[in-house]
Amino acid sequence: MLLARVAVPVPLGQAFSYAVPAELASKVGRGARVLCEFGRRRVLGVVIDVGEREPDVSPDKLKPIVAVTDAEPVFPEELMAFLLELSRYYVAPIGEVMQLALPALARSAASQLGDVSKAAKLVGHAVQVARATGVEPEKASPRARELLKLLTEAGPTPLSALEEKFSSARSMVKKLVALGAAAIDEQERNLDPFFASDVPRDVPPQLTEPQAAAVAAIVARIEGGGGALLLDGVTASGKTEVYLRAVERCLSLGRAAIVLVPEIALTPQLVTRFRARIGDEIAVLHSGLGEPQRHSMWKALRSGRVRIAVGARSALFAPVPNLGLLCVDEEHDGSFKQEEGVRYNARDMALLRAHRAAATCVLGSATPSLGSLWLSRQGKLEHLRLPARARAASMLPEVEVVDLRRTGPGPGGERLISVRLYRELESVLERKQQAILFLNRRGFSPSLICDDCGQIVECPNCSVALTLHRARGERLVCHYCDHAAPRPSTCAVCNQPALLEEGAGTERIETYLGARFPEARVARLDRDVAAGAKSSAILERMRSGQIDILVGTQMVTKGHDLPNVTLVGVLNADSALSLPDFRAAERTFQLLVQVSGRAGRGDAPGRVLIQTRKPGHPAVVCAARHEVERFVELELEMRKELEYPPFSRLALVRCDAVEEARAKDVALRAAELSRRVEGVRVLGPAPAPIPRLRNRYRFHVMLRANDRPPLRQALLAIARHPFDRKTRVALDVDPVNML
Ligand code: ADP
Ligand code: ZN
Repeated sequence: MLLARVAVPVPLGQAFSYAVPAELASKVGRGARVLCEFGRRRVLGVVIDVGEREPDVSPDKLKPIVAVTDAEPVFPEELMAFLLELSRYYVAPIGEVMQLALPALARSAASQLGDVSKAAKLVGHAVQVARATGVEPEKASPRARELLKLLTEAGPTPLSALEEKFSSARSMVKKLVALGAAAIDEQERNLDPFFASDVPRDVPPQLTEPQAAAVAAIVARIEGGGGALLLDGVTASGKTEVYLRAVERCLSLGRAAIVLVPEIALTPQLVTRFRARIGDEIAVLHSGLGEPQRHSMWKALRSGRVRIAVGARSALFAPVPNLGLLCVDEEHDGSFKQEEGVRYNARDMALLRAHRAAATCVLGSATPSLGSLWLSRQGKLEHLRLPARARAASMLPEVEVVDLRRTGPGPGGERLISVRLYRELESVLERKQQAILFLNRRGFSPSLICDDCGQIVECPNCSVALTLHRARGERLVCHYCDHAAPRPSTCAVCNQPALLEEGAGTERIETYLGARFPEARVARLDRDVAAGAKSSAILERMRSGQIDILVGTQMVTKGHDLPNVTLVGVLNADSALSLPDFRAAERTFQLLVQVSGRAGRGDAPGRVLIQTRKPGHPAVVCAARHEVERFVELELEMRKELEYPPFSRLALVRCDAVEEARAKDVALRAAELSRRVEGVRVLGPAPAPIPRLRNRYRFHVMLRANDRPPLRQALLAIARHPFDRKTRVALDVDPVNML
């Protein structure tokens, strides 16, 4: 019997068998997208393989494939094989893994039978654009003439934009159309902010010697059978230039390239540089895209018409034929890890996909992850170094550690603006240069505490403190579940009206700076003010000199190239150090080096002040002295002693339920199942560092092994075990977030 195994979009481990009707036999092959019944629904699945075999269900339960939606397989074979391997690696349901690689329109039932263009119309993203025809109408009203004048001068304009300028613009345009003076075209709206303006072609710079060597090494791999390289270059050493050259070469060889960045919205410059060098045949995959656009990008990539994909982690799945190069910029960044659904790490999987495709993977960073440095030591990554900044005048900044225990606050008494930092701010403003202040806390004040009984105001759904926000009315907000409530006037426990604001967030620092430096233009960049495209607007204002001091969270530490920034202040280096996570020191080190790298990128020298209460901590000391090697030595030593990666393999089993006892029970069972597997060391179950989140109690079981097979065996046992259905069990292989 001819059967197809089909990955259907359900969170179940295996693929399902379907009968292949004779009339479809020639079309149903590996990678084909097919319509089939699942339960009472019709779903789109992807065929994993087809063959003559005995059905594994009784023949009356076996259902036929209803239809094949496309002439071609939906994935190139290379991507198909990679997805299967990814599913295996993460012990993740194959159907869900396939969904990762398909844009929503290609998955949705609305696009049944592949009529995706119709589905795109349903989404309604076409836009009406009016244009002048050049005929001068005699009977038009003065206002209509005015509108026509605008159309003539400004060129084709969307009706929606005209409506903002003229009341009843629509009916005026309709009259003009009737008079033959205007026409309306339907256009696909280009919502994409990355392509909003034209970018002139640039002139490639003469490569520095280390850049040239790096490019040569990468190209040699591309032209050979592929390989994996670590591009270890200090901030502003010209890593992007190296990617550009490598991508160009890859394209000229007729192969495709993928460039992954942590957060595409924060790196619009990167896209601009690619467009300036390579042109507009680039698929930029980002969350601001509408589904129809995402789908058309995907099709352009699949057909080979566009051969470069740039984007955040999901660009890993770009369906390009003949992949030649995969660059992962800022490879150390934790956001390459997806923290829900299929918990994959795009950085790790980039290595895998490239390896299987005989492509070349370049991991780039100014602060390579410990894992990458370890692989380089093992000879598994070719280590390329760019030791100095690319532009001759640009020096690494001078870094000074400010001991918060000894240095008092500056004028106004804000504890996180030391008198030392205050003086530097004054001096930057005097020199008409710019400053970035980094604080890893958004909101006004991280917590409210009762001065009488010591109780902290907590989220009703989560075991975390509520943060006080002021910018849009006083309210307490949970940063995990978004619960928001008005600020209470008394303590809920002891009823005393003595709630104190503890600590400072970005809002409070912004307010303080506004009050102390009224002549300065102060702005804030964090998730509260800037989602998506808005953040690039703020960065653009910074770049064009309309902001003097930018205060922000992690968002300010990313790879921005702002030449006039000569002062960077890390307001509190300790907050990240104190997290219950074995990577806390590594992350702090990376963060400090990265944020420091924002200073002095132009011609004027930069200065960095790191404020801390732990001035002797290796992460602080080594970051301040640019001593990467020493930090790596110390950190590896510690990891070895504690048997953490890269000296072991980890998996975290996350169990949560509304009822504490249920979650705990499942976690106990999971631990028990794991303990039966030889070679697996089990820690826990223990309540997660955040024991309750969104009204669910959370327990962790940590699994550790020297190599993958036993770990996998334990995870499979857990995945297949029929646990209590009210408890969610998530398997997290190579966990990044330990909370
Ligand atoms: P990174 O990606 O390592 O942070 P970039 O590629 O952004 O570094 O380079 C930093 C700055 O140096 C940019 O302004 C870039 O245009 C410039 N640059 C890069 N390579 C060269 C070069 N070979 N000669 C002159 N300037 C360069
Ligand atoms: Zn909450």
